[in-house]
Amino acid sequence: MFTKGNQIGKPTRFGPDWPGRRCGAKTRAGTPCKKAAMKGRSRCRNHGGSSTGPRTEAGRARIATAQLKHGRLTKEARAEAKRRAQVGREIRAELRDIEGLALARGWLKPGWRDQFD
Ligand SMILES: [Zn+2]
Repeated sequence: MFTKGNQIGKPTRFGPDWPGRRCGAKTRAGTPCKKAAMKGRSRCRNHGGSSTGPRTEAGRARIATAQLKHGRLTKEARAEAKRRAQVGREIRAELRDIEGLALARGWLKPGWRDQFD
């Protein structure tokens, strides 16, 4: 039974066999933190478990900048990739139309691509 405070010679509630969630932080020595994570969180009290996160708009922007690694997956970059993919689809559709027209008018023979093999 757990009582407040650790008693000398008695095992603690959060010993090596404790099945609960551990803090996911890395200590300054490079080893994982062994403390129990706070309820509903993934960090212990020493590693930001009781942090309420950035509150101001400037703080939120600062954290977002700090967590950005290369920017290839930002909302803007993904929107730009989507736009470019759509442009490529439109160009290929137009080329298909032109090829169909050229085949219909006899400017190209069916199987004209085979000459490039
Ligand atoms: Zn910790």
